Amino acid sequence: MFVDGCFWHGCPEHATWPKKNAEFWRDKILTNRERDDDTNARLRAEGWEVIRVWSHEDAVDAADRVEALVRARQSNQESW
Ligand SMILES: [Zn+2]
Repeated sequence: MFVDGCFWHGCPEHATWPKKNAEFWRDKILTNRERDDDTNARLRAEGWEVIRVWSHEDAVDAADRVEALVRARQSNQESW
């Protein structure tokens, strides 16, 4: 599970695109996002489940998502 900072990873709700050195920051944030996608793809290819949580998200909601996923995987295994 990753917790992504709203600024650094370009959260759709809170992303701010600084006007000063705009190009530098835009490249920086977009590069982070591309790396996130690449990391997700590599982990999923290895059979990992990837959960990304924005730093603005409620911790209890995030924990519920993790729990739901774990339970879903467990019930899949039981049906095998
Ligand atoms: Zn956010």
